[in-house]
Amino acid sequence: MKNNKAKFGRIAIKVGSNVVTTGDGSLNTGRMLRLVEQIAVLIKQGYEVILISSGAVAAGKTDINPSRKTSLISSKQIWAAIGQVKLMSNYQFLFGKYGIGAGQVLAAKDSFRDRLHYLNMKNCISAMLENNVLPIINENDTISINELMFTDNDELSGMISSMMDCGTLIILSNVDGIYTGPPGRNGSEILKKIYAGTHDIDKYISASTSEFGRGGMLTKYSIARGIAKEGINVYIANGTRDSVINDIINEKDVPCTHIVASAKRKNGVKKWLSHSDTFARGIVYVNDGARDALLSGHASLLMIGVSKIEGFFKKGDIIRIFDERGDQIGIGKSGYDSRKAESCLGEKLKIPLVHNDYLLINNKE
Ligand code: GLU
Repeated sequence: MKNNKAKFGRIAIKVGSNVVTTGDGSLNTGRMLRLVEQIAVLIKQGYEVILISSGAVAAGKTDINPSRKTSLISSKQIWAAIGQVKLMSNYQFLFGKYGIGAGQVLAAKDSFRDRLHYLNMKNCISAMLENNVLPIINENDTISINELMFTDNDELSGMISSMMDCGTLIILSNVDGIYTGPPGRNGSEILKKIYAGTHDIDKYISASTSEFGRGGMLTKYSIARGIAKEGINVYIANGTRDSVINDIINEKDVPCTHIVASAKRKNGVKKWLSHSDTFARGIVYVNDGARDALLSGHASLLMIGVSKIEGFFKKGDIIRIFDERGDQIGIGKSGYDSRKAESCLGEKLKIPLVHNDYLLINNKE
């Protein structure tokens, strides 16, 4: 077996609910075992692996039918509370057979908003890897509702692989990849490689989602595209194929879609910012001079270039930056709170509203 460690780097593997559960939602332990076997092979070869696994809600659903007065949100929370334990006990047992310790990390979207929380989570996962404990990550579905939720675990897996500087993200569902038409229809072909900057891929993809998971191919592709631009190779593949993970890493001709990484890698803060748009607390509008300086990629945003402020934010919050025509040109971490910034609009102050180190300008990095 080849050792492609330098090429693939740290590997994040995302497993969808449809891979680890059967048609009725109960855990498919046979399938889980085959995934575990493959991951065990990688770990024995010295690869660092992070597993992001769905399946908690589906696995809990088979155990309890909440009373009629329980809302759907509460029902999902109960299912997740029960199912996550089942999911993890199975993983721990199965990885244990191979002498691999596995631990659970539950993340909420909010854990990514605050840079300190983000770094805490990063340190924890790094320490697990250093101590040969396989991190198995899922959303903390018991406390995540609505706007505080990840779109799905595909989004979570993208944020984790970016945060953990992975070289590869493998997204496993029960389809082989992205096709040029509905999979199975005459003439539909799998797209084997997609390069950053290829347009019009969305037109091939149907918006439907799977029975148990929240995500669909559209979100998979949009996450994959963003992550590939950060320098991470993404493979969308079928986790129900017995040796799909090892086949990808051994570069065998297995059906899957490879979204090829572009060479550029962002630094830590910029990577964090690139996943922070949904956490933004306010908007600042900048005049044309500031806009041009920011678009050059090297400037900080100074108060003298700020013409208007919307919303309330604290020092350290993420803010969106718009030009006067209302187009967003970037995001950044604010050096002032909104009250202070409002009181010195257009003034010549030394401390920037957003320092260049904490600024992400569209299409720049
Ligand atoms: N976190 C959910 C679970 O474990 C899955 C979310 C998704 O479908 O992506 O059940």
